[in-house]
Amino acid sequence: MANGSLRQQLAVLYQLQEHDRELLSIHQRFQAIPQHLKQLEDSVTKFKTEMTKKSDELADVEKSLRSKNAEIEMNDVQREKYKIEQRAVTTNEQYTALDNQIEFLDQKDSETEEEILELMEKSDRLKEELTDLDAEVAREDEKTAEKRLEFHEEQKSLKELIDEKTKQRSQYLPEINKELSRLYHNWVNRRKSDFVSLGKNGTCGSCRLTIQPQNLKEAQKYEKIVYCTSCKRLLYVEPLSSDIPFP
Ligand SMILES: [Zn+2]
Repeated sequence: MANGSLRQQLAVLYQLQEHDRELLSIHQRFQAIPQHLKQLEDSVTKFKTEMTKKSDELADVEKSLRSKNAEIEMNDVQREKYKIEQRAVTTNEQYTALDNQIEFLDQKDSETEEEILELMEKSDRLKEELTDLDAEVAREDEKTAEKRLEFHEEQKSLKELIDEKTKQRSQYLPEINKELSRLYHNWVNRRKSDFVSLGKNGTCGSCRLTIQPQNLKEAQKYEKIVYCTSCKRLLYVEPLSSDIPFP
């Protein structure tokens, strides 16, 4: 039961507020963890996507290489045919025409061979890049696994802390009267900010404005609830005597 004086209750309410503030910040850290975990996954996904892209590119290059090599093989067959035909022809014109065909094939082959060289260079470069990327993915995977573990451990310990702090907060409640408790919870739920404002040196700790003299005098009596006239928070002011603990 709330048997303490209003001043004592204000002191406890202020402690509760500090406790809740800490609880809230733990909660926020706890709730941010899934987002951190997602960011980790995203960075790994980014590397893996890049790897897939490069692998696809390499597959395309190798496909082109195969088709270019096939062209050369086909031309070889064709060239042999022309040579066999040449042995059977009877006129110079026919022979020259076949020679021209062979020359055309030679020319095509030399172009194709140049393309093959370029493709081979490209393939080598892509393979090197893929090896580097593969190592990078492995490193990133390892780093991510470590961090993921850290986040999971933090998640677990924050959850335990939240449970403990939530349990602890109930020790304050019996020392605060129901009305005061209701006012506090209403304010906090609605405004998500401090309800109790410390009054020191005649100033409201929340809005930093001077507490009106009459209001201050009332608040220092701790006989009834006094609000700051500007920010509307509950004033818990410094007692007149320094023997009384504050806050
Ligand atoms: Zn104020």
